[in-house]
Amino acid sequence: MPHRTIHLFRKGLRLHDNPTLLAALKSSEVVYPVYILDRKFLTSAVKMGTLRWHFLLQCLEDLQSNLKKLNSCLWIIQGEYEAVLREHVQKWNISQVTLDNEIEPFYKQMERTIQDMGKEMGFEVFSLVAHTLYDVSRIVELNKGIAPLTYKRFLHILTLLGDPEMPVQEVAAEDAQKLSPLPEEGLDEQYRLPLPEDLGISKEYLSPWRGGETTGLLQLKEHLNNQGWVAKFKKPRTIPNSLLPSTTGLSPYFSFGCLSVRTFFHRLSKIYAQSKNHSLPPVSLQGQLLWREFFYTVASSTPNFTKMVGNPICLQIKWYQDAEKLHKWKTGKTGFPWIDAIMTQLHQEGWIHHFARHAVACFLTRGDLWISWEEGMQVFEELLLDADYSINAGNWMWLSASAFFHQYTRIFCPVRFGKRTDPEGQYIRKYLPVLKNFPSKYIYEPWAAPEEAQIEADCIIGKDYPFPMVNHKEASNHNLQLMKQVREEQYKTAQLTRGDMDDPMETRLKREHPEENAQKGKRARSREQV
Ligand code: FAD
Repeated sequence: MPHRTIHLFRKGLRLHDNPTLLAALKSSEVVYPVYILDRKFLTSAVKMGTLRWHFLLQCLEDLQSNLKKLNSCLWIIQGEYEAVLREHVQKWNISQVTLDNEIEPFYKQMERTIQDMGKEMGFEVFSLVAHTLYDVSRIVELNKGIAPLTYKRFLHILTLLGDPEMPVQEVAAEDAQKLSPLPEEGLDEQYRLPLPEDLGISKEYLSPWRGGETTGLLQLKEHLNNQGWVAKFKKPRTIPNSLLPSTTGLSPYFSFGCLSVRTFFHRLSKIYAQSKNHSLPPVSLQGQLLWREFFYTVASSTPNFTKMVGNPICLQIKWYQDAEKLHKWKTGKTGFPWIDAIMTQLHQEGWIHHFARHAVACFLTRGDLWISWEEGMQVFEELLLDADYSINAGNWMWLSASAFFHQYTRIFCPVRFGKRTDPEGQYIRKYLPVLKNFPSKYIYEPWAAPEEAQIEADCIIGKDYPFPMVNHKEASNHNLQLMKQVREEQYKTAQLTRGDMDDPMETRLKREHPEENAQKGKRARSREQV
């Protein structure tokens, strides 16, 4: 007998390549598309900050409007998910709940709770993988039950699996007949999309990013139209301080599942097939999606992945606890314009370039402040539109050289790093208008400007903009010694995630300073400033 189904959207906020929803439609006489807006869950487990709330509301609005075009609707229900589900299973006489399979412990817990509820109330639970390219548990299985801990090993396992499955067809009018109709008049108020003020968040949303499948697909299309750029894309050649993103900027859409990674992957394959020599992983665009997959795979089978303690792949480091320094970093008041401009962009827009993330993460952890990567990860979790359990923690471990990354002698200089790709400091001038009149010569180190230059720029260092909070040279030298010691003491843990795949930044360095690096390679390097 066909089911009466609730399809529960969690991530996966889309109608294209939605295999779980499509399967629900095939096995059901009616499917209720439901989003449970459980504020407690979203603020405690997912830790959504204001910008992400806005982005989520936009995603829901878009999904709502796309479902309306199919004469259905998205039932947005506020409340604790267990109680809401219980009530609606009874109310609609539900025999099946469908939802995408996710890997995060809090979503897994939710799945277990729903399974138990199903047993008790007599409904079935059905789920498929839709947020990653592969079912990552298959990757772990093929690697003898443990996650491949290096990108190279990971790519090797993928060769055994072949290409990811093709995306499924979009939910269209013929499937839509089984979607629940619009609620009756008067009822719709109960299921409407809340306004920001209903959620207690500010109405104002300044970020240029707009949530939703429609915008995500448009952006994807625009990028894919530029076939030459796509084929030649090499991450190390992209620019962290361009005024518009120099990479795709699709991460917020992947994060909420407004865009399918399989759709992107296969469209890239088509372009690569038509191009004579396209770039390859780890630096190509498919290579970026595979990094995402890599972190999902490792996170899915590593206990305490987002923590240092109890995390078997992570170096155990006695980081400093310094709330004041952490606050300065978080609020963009370090006195290093490059770092502060990045943190300002993060606060205002919720997205920053990958190498900008490198710069601020290195500065907070092993570079300058020696503060735990967990603190930084939590700040990113709150502020990033694309905040993601696996990718965020994985990259923070990487940047702090706690796992995955081993060229720990390479420390990013908060003055020189940004200068290379933006010598005039346009990026700094945009995000830190207080410095906008500084001559380019001093824009990355305004404290070095003579007094007359500061007066002329109408910005006195120490009064209008802070002095640098640390002496970078001294702090980074000191931290390097600490890191060396940790790695010697914990040699075995340090080896676990050691790969021989080039770090993308390494490629950039080799390209830009070939002689310097050849020389450096010969010498045993004690320390480098990038
Ligand atoms: P593109 O270069 O266009 O890449 C396309 C897609 O590939 C991205 O949208 C993303 O889904 C994936 N991708 C790219 N780089 C990586 C990477 N290094 N690791 C895993 N997946 C990648 N990305 C997140 O999506 N969420 C996070 O919470 C997150 N936290 C990070 C924290 C730190 C400290 C660092 C250094 C990086 C973090 N990243 C995170 C990875 C990366 O910076 C972003 O995915 C990327 O900058 C997003 O921009 P884009 O969509 O233009 O990327």
